[in-house]
Amino acid sequence: MSTRDLNPDSYQDMLSYVQAFHDKHDFKNTGGEELTYRIALMAEELGEMSACVTKGKSKDDLAEETADLLILLLGTAISADFDLQQAFWHKMDKIMKRESKMVNGRIRVSEFRD
Ligand SMILES: [Mg+2]
Repeated sequence: MSTRDLNPDSYQDMLSYVQAFHDKHDFKNTGGEELTYRIALMAEELGEMSACVTKGKSKDDLAEETADLLILLLGTAISADFDLQQAFWHKMDKIMKRESKMVNGRIRVSEFRD
């Protein structure tokens, strides 16, 4: 599979390419799809995003670290066998209906259960 054959606007193609990456390194049989390990990897990438912001790195660096996290998120949907696209739209529907509040000077959108 090469990126030349893929539609960059297609979620399905993004997922297929991440699947090809997993297959290339046999993640399924080498621990690369273990969820606890993946959580640690995602935390690591989130830390790298954080460093971009707190150390004033470039937008390109921030975009790259965010892509690392997105690739891990897509791969986690593969590893745990759930439909992330469906979950995304379902959750967006839900949060679009939520109220917002100012909390300590910043907006917060939540269910605000007591
Ligand atoms: Mg990274």
